[in-house]
Amino acid sequence: MKIGRAEVLRIEEYHGLGFPPKAFLPDWDEQLVEKHLHWMVPDHYAPGDGRLVGSIHSWLIRLPNLTVLVDTCSGNHKHRPDSPFFSMMNSRYIENLAAAGVDPDDIDYVFCTHLHIDHAGWNTRLLDGKWVPTFRNAKYLVSRTEFESLVGEETPSGDDLNLIVDTIQPIIDSGQWLPIDAPFQLCDELLIEASPGHTRGHCHLTLSSGDGRAVFSGDVVHHPIQVHIPSWNSSACSVTEAAVPTRIKMLEELSETGTWLMPVHFAKPFCCRVGAAQDHGFICIME
Ligand SMILES: [Zn+2]
Repeated sequence: MKIGRAEVLRIEEYHGLGFPPKAFLPDWDEQLVEKHLHWMVPDHYAPGDGRLVGSIHSWLIRLPNLTVLVDTCSGNHKHRPDSPFFSMMNSRYIENLAAAGVDPDDIDYVFCTHLHIDHAGWNTRLLDGKWVPTFRNAKYLVSRTEFESLVGEETPSGDDLNLIVDTIQPIIDSGQWLPIDAPFQLCDELLIEASPGHTRGHCHLTLSSGDGRAVFSGDVVHHPIQVHIPSWNSSACSVTEAAVPTRIKMLEELSETGTWLMPVHFAKPFCCRVGAAQDHGFICIME
């Protein structure tokens, strides 16, 4: 899609069945979701399978003089003992990037909204048995708070430790790692701001170009039902008391300004605009 003078492309790693709803959204209530089934089934919820439907993708923003990749999915061949769904993936992500006309060397900046395994994975790829930066010419932007809260853990273990070793350390070693303090203005049209809650240092990116505006929201919202019921956190949200106010504040701004919401895990059509609901909360406007 075109947003002002920017071209925005979705680069897919996975699209299909996701987690069981109650496991991923602990407040999931069959009675409450009943009135939403008409728009959720089958694109966003597969009740027959007892699973949500979702996606894992990056957003690529192409400005005339800058190419930015937002979030880098899970990556291939990564050992994730705590999260079998994301472990040893073998997706066609790089082929999908090529199909969009993008060479990994074209990327100027990678921006990870946060440091979960499904948002930083393609930072690196396996080459001759070594983890090397996938995007050789890019600077990798990440919130300093996010970075410090991950590496500052007393004894990182399991997936967190693996993420540091196979996905973050190689970027530090290559000199491409760039911790930032939000708010951070990347260029005239791109602004990174803090949105704590899903993680402590979570950030989102706003693209404003011409009349167009889009918010690349990372995991402030995972599933479109959370637009309608923003008080529902995911089981992966770590600062739960901050996640709900952050989500509501973002949805309010989006609904007041007609801004596109560009999440990482919404299934087809993958993004939406946000409207105010008649009672309270918001609605997804999918086109
Ligand atoms: Zn995620």
